[in-house]
Amino acid sequence: MTVAVVLFTSDLRVHDHPPLHAALAAADEVVPLFVRDPGVHAAGFDVPNRSAFLVGCLTDLDASLRRRGGRLVVRKGPVVQEVCAVAAECAATQVHIAAGVTGYAHRREEQLRDALRGQGVALHVHDSVITAVAPGAVTPVGNDHFAVFTPYFRRWSQERLRDVCPAPRTVRVPDAVRGEPLPSREELSGRSPGLPAGGEAPGRDRFSRWARSGLAEYEDRHDDLAGDATSRLSPYLHFGALSPVELVQRARERGGPGAEAFVRQLCWRDFHHQVLAARPDASSRDYRTRHDRWRTEDEAAEDIAAWRDGRTGYPVVDAAMRQLRHEGWMHNRARLLAASFLVKTLYVDWRIGARHFLDLLVDGDIVNNQLNWQWVAGTGTDTRPHRVLNPVVQGKRFDAAGGYVRRWVPELRDVADARIHEPWRLPERERAQVEYPRPLIDLGEGLARFRHARGRD
Ligand code: FAD
Repeated sequence: MTVAVVLFTSDLRVHDHPPLHAALAAADEVVPLFVRDPGVHAAGFDVPNRSAFLVGCLTDLDASLRRRGGRLVVRKGPVVQEVCAVAAECAATQVHIAAGVTGYAHRREEQLRDALRGQGVALHVHDSVITAVAPGAVTPVGNDHFAVFTPYFRRWSQERLRDVCPAPRTVRVPDAVRGEPLPSREELSGRSPGLPAGGEAPGRDRFSRWARSGLAEYEDRHDDLAGDATSRLSPYLHFGALSPVELVQRARERGGPGAEAFVRQLCWRDFHHQVLAARPDASSRDYRTRHDRWRTEDEAAEDIAAWRDGRTGYPVVDAAMRQLRHEGWMHNRARLLAASFLVKTLYVDWRIGARHFLDLLVDGDIVNNQLNWQWVAGTGTDTRPHRVLNPVVQGKRFDAAGGYVRRWVPELRDVADARIHEPWRLPERERAQVEYPRPLIDLGEGLARFRHARGRD
């Protein structure tokens, strides 16, 4: 009787799961394992929104495995120690895991390989589980990664993706291995009230519905803030409840400009992964320094607090920050605006904003969050690093009738469309009736400070 262990990490699904597929092909029995490592922030158990979603994913994965005759084994402790213990308990000869891209994932892989070798157990690491195209699979001449998106997209689009693996019919788990129960979602306090349900089943259901109703119009509508016309699949992708390879294939099968635009966004995800895989320090350091002397937490405490609470006096920024708090999610255009306002208009260190996003985002991840923040800050891969987004201009363009602002900033509900993005310009009598802060900063002053700091005045 041969036994294999599959360590689930950011790949919490049974469909299109190469490690599970390979383990089932190679062994008579398989232990599907998830380890809650208390030392790992990225595991998400200390961030209420992500822990609630993660519990949903694990519960759903366990239910899927049970329908196939198996179960999910959950253990708590240092991950390497637990994997080795489980492998010893069931006399496993191999362990399967998805390749990760962060510095932490690489260290985990190395430590696992060493520790398992000592027990005579082989470690199999599988590519293209967490991303559609593995980091490093396509590279430009003379560099180990692409630093600009468009040429990466061109090459990425030509790559032949691996075939989608079918979900297994049966999974036999050895009786001897024991796990511990999960906390229920209700036991996890402090989460945002408008959080979606985690899990592969809700994720697949969302994609199928959205592919029928939203995909075709995605290209035209994705930036419409009030229309809320994007897929909202990011948390499912973050936890691997959905496979990026499968999403790309299914979108391509549907075809059309909407599907092409959606696939392009999925490529952004892979793009950032290949940058971080090559430059792990970009999670906390400037990818390209502009020699900024950002304002720190102490120097800008009041401005930062107003930004976090959605009290900047710029309606579209405040709407974005309030959506984040309520839903643990924010529209991409809103993320761009809110981030640009903090780093460029208020000239605050991008790491402070990235930290706040990571504390609340249900899809918050080191790769996409840190590199998108750097993109906005102009220290990352943006080819126009000094541009500043004006929240009034952007608000008028992407929320022309003010529906997004009215949804999240109810104080402004009765303000006419023409003034919804600049309520300070209301006639004094009307202004006095609206309980909403005056602008925290003059946009011209913010712009001048930023340009001066970047030596562009
Ligand atoms: P859709 O528009 O439906 O796009 C489909 C998928 O493509 C997304 O689910 C996502 O996986 C991927 N995608 C789309 N845009 C991007 C992008 N710019 N970079 C990388 N992948 C992308 N995304 C995260 O998943 N986690 C984060 O922590 C995160 N932090 C961000 C912080 C800032 C400052 C900014 C500007 C963007 C951030 N993004 C992050 C990227 C993007 O905003 C979200 O992926 C997107 O809003 C999720 O909504 P959706 O699923 O409806 O996206």
